[in-house]
Parts: sequence; structure tokens; C-alpha cells
Amino acid sequence: MSGTALDAAFFVRWMTVSAAAVDREADRLTELDSAIGDADHGSNMQRGFAAVTKVLEAEQPATPGAVLMTAGRQLISTVGGASGPLYGTLLRRSGKALGDAPQVTAEELRAGLSAGVDAVAKLGGAAPGDKTMLDALVPAVEALAGTSGSFDAAADAAGKGALATVPLLAKKGRASYLGERSIGHQDPGATSSALLFTALAEVAK
Ligand code: ADP
Ligand code: MG
Repeated sequence: MSGTALDAAFFVRWMTVSAAAVDREADRLTELDSAIGDADHGSNMQRGFAAVTKVLEAEQPATPGAVLMTAGRQLISTVGGASGPLYGTLLRRSGKALGDAPQVTAEELRAGLSAGVDAVAKLGGAAPGDKTMLDALVPAVEALAGTSGSFDAAADAAGKGALATVPLLAKKGRASYLGERSIGHQDPGATSSALLFTALAEVAK
């Protein structure tokens, strides 16, 4: 990863571009959730990220860490579904790891996101292969590491990870109630995670 400094404005753009992507793809996310869940993932994410955009405008957090912690707090308080606390934890824990530095490096962001993803796994008790958002998040964060790591590689890995959930049997969340019938459908949360990493790659350009 390069040593570019990422400031609060970069993180606000990441959240705003994510909100726009979630808004654009809400119908698709809900369609995926209607196959193996309760058809609310699109509206959950849409409501949550609209609230994130609003609170960031109102509060204007001054540091990268504060932007992510504020966004995460807002997701937890506005999204009723399983995904709210999980995405909220991802952003809050990642933001906490960034501390109160006015700028962070891409490597610091990678380390922060890695801590955030670990917290999601701990909270939800899921592991890669269980057909959840972790199937996109874990490969994405791995693809940020090392000399060949980049935001583009992370977006690509998240997208591939989401697609690779299709043949999996769901072991966590609502989809797990379907047992074998969860096979053959793409996980909605892995799909929205890929949107967030695509947004990150976009704002980093
Ligand atoms: P709900 O399942 O409460 O309706 P959403 O539809 O918003 O919530 O989100 C569903 C997504 O949440 C799933 O597609 C999956 O990716 C993710 N998810 C559910 N449970 C877990 C868990 N225990 N660990 C990680 N991700 C999970
Ligand atoms: Mg749902």
C-alpha cells in the first residue's frame, strides 16, 4: 500500500459514495434478501447510510477515526436488522483503531479495518465460509496487505468473495434457518460489503 495520507474529508467521501451505492443497489440487495432472508437488507442499508450522510453533515467530525465512529454509531441506532450492529461494529472498531490522528496512512487504515472485521466475527460468531458479510470483508482486508495490496485489489476481492457465497450453505443469520435451501443464492450482506469496498476504491482514485 502506498503511503498517501487520508484525512477526514476522504472518509466522509467514502461514506457518502457508499450511501449513494447502497441507494442505487437497494432493490437488488432486497431481492437477494428475499430469496434467503426477510427482504429488508436493501431498505435497512438505505435507511442506515442515509442517516450516516446526514449525521456527518451535521457533526462534521474532524478526524478519520471520528468519522468512522460517528458513522458506526449511527448505523447501530438506525438499522434494526442484524446488519446494523454488525456494520456499526465494523466502522466503530475500525475508527477506534485510527485514534485521533488528523490523517492516517493506507496501512493504518488496513490495520484498523482488520480490527473492525475481527470485531464483526466476534460479535456475530461467524467465520469465512458461513455465507455472511465476512466472505467479502475478510478477503477484502487481506487484499489490502503487502506490497501488491491496493484499494482496487480489495474491491475486486470483495466482489469475488460475494459471488463465491452462491454455492455456500448458510451457517449464521436468518439464511441459516433455510439449511440446504440457502444454497444457490448470493448472500445480501456480502454483496453490500462489496459495495462499500468498491466505494473505497472509487474515492481513493
Ligand atoms: P436481518 O438478517 O436481521 O434481516 P439484514 O437483512 O439487514 O438483517 O442483513 C442480513 C445480512 O447480515 C446477511 O446477508 C449476512 O451477510 C449478515 N449477517 C447475518 N448474521 C450474521 C452473522 N452472525 N455474522 C456476520 N454477518 C451476518
Ligand atoms: Mg433481512
